[in-house]
Amino acid sequence: MPIHHVEVGTCPMCGHGKLLALYRTTYIPQYGHVVLLTLVCNLCHFKETDVLFLSEKGPNPPIQKIKLTKDTLGYLLIVAAGATVSISKLDYDIHFYQGEIKSVEGLLLEAKEHAKEFLKQATKEEKEKVTKIINTLEFELQNPSGMLEIILKDERRYSTILPKEAWERRVIAERRLQELGKALPPEEIKEHVKKRLERY
Ligand SMILES: [Zn+2]
Repeated sequence: MPIHHVEVGTCPMCGHGKLLALYRTTYIPQYGHVVLLTLVCNLCHFKETDVLFLSEKGPNPPIQKIKLTKDTLGYLLIVAAGATVSISKLDYDIHFYQGEIKSVEGLLLEAKEHAKEFLKQATKEEKEKVTKIINTLEFELQNPSGMLEIILKDERRYSTILPKEAWERRVIAERRLQELGKALPPEEIKEHVKKRLERY
């Protein structure tokens, strides 16, 4: 897929560098078109990634749930900025400040690592809860029992959960949609980046 770039203004971090948006368009079956976007500064180390949704389809449900099983471990979470992923029974929420695409397994592995980090500075009461979370995640990653549920909440309805097969079909779809990357006007990218940078 071709990677395009457009200059989008001044770096919000150092205030001097030119901010460059690198982007490419891809297609995800059952979801639609997305733009994978990376912002980089030519002077400092500022770098951010985002997923820009161009879905022509109707909105996704604001709350989506899947049981954690051997099959769903390979499912993909397409998470937009502002969405939250919760793991039921563990009382564990992950808030996404930027768009990301990751597998359910990847998410659980990350959650486990974060919990391990947190454990180092946890109070006595927290330790018990966090240890339980780590143990449960370790067990469920090896033997997904269907006990846990992954809950994806996105009021803006951009996020979705995709079965593995849909993701695999993406490769074929991408070939058909290579032209789209060229068709996306840089003005649209600039507009999106401007809105995004308003929070600095
Ligand atoms: Zn900079």
